[in-house]
Amino acid sequence: MKIVMLGAPGAGKGTQAKMIAEQYGIPHVSTGDIFRMNIKNGTELGKEAKTYMDKGELVPDELTVRILLDRVAQEDCKNGYVLDGFPRTIPQAEVLDAELTKLGDAIDYAINVDVPDENIIRRMSGRRACVSCGATYHIVHIPPKKEGICDKCGAELILRDDDKEETVKNRLNIYHAQTQPLIDFYTNKGVLKTVDGTVDSAEVFAAIKVILG
Ligand code: ADP
Ligand code: ADP
Ligand code: ZN
Repeated sequence: MKIVMLGAPGAGKGTQAKMIAEQYGIPHVSTGDIFRMNIKNGTELGKEAKTYMDKGELVPDELTVRILLDRVAQEDCKNGYVLDGFPRTIPQAEVLDAELTKLGDAIDYAINVDVPDENIIRRMSGRRACVSCGATYHIVHIPPKKEGICDKCGAELILRDDDKEETVKNRLNIYHAQTQPLIDFYTNKGVLKTVDGTVDSAEVFAAIKVILG
């Protein structure tokens, strides 16, 4: 099963993608996580990506596509995957589609997690991310058991640099201009499914399970 998660920054794509990955036994592939891991490890890729990410801008398509195609070519992606944060532009979607077509394959579901902009700003200021394993929490909605500490690995939780309000506004503008057109792209392919992302994360997941079967 090959799944694409769509939705604004902070809509809950990562939260849902992790649950889907666990339930269906497929890898969760997040381009944002791959970039953040490279930043943490001080790689050349990380240095380049950081200059865009800090401003809330998109990393250029060419670089992003190369990273993503390398990742999905790995053995563990053979039986499918859930893509979180990719594609984010029409050119990215077209390259992915062309690569899959070459393999006689296609995306099975594009799940659009729908959350209005006004909810997003509030959500992002409460997001906390683990510096070590990338797990995400929300100080009100999905709190860790112990404040400031990751449930999964015990490392520190931080507010991401790009989750500050001004940067979030820029990311939302870019989302509407560059990423939202993917809703039409996947509608035309007949695989788009929209879920209400404003409800509790367990309820969102229940709606997704109905779709995926
Ligand atoms: P969120 O989950 O809040 O939307 P991500 O972790 O997916 O954030 O992405 C963080 C940042 O990483 C983006 O703002 C962008 O700079 C970069 N990024 C991640 N995925 C892509 C992509 N597919 N294309 C371009 N830039 C990306
Ligand atoms: P995305 O990957 O789309 O950027 P995340 O999954 O990181 O979004 O979620 C953004 C923030 O909102 C996180 O702090 C997360 O814990 C929280 N969150 C996720 N789903 C919900 C939900 N259904 N209701 C309230 N908060 C949520
Ligand atoms: Zn952790």
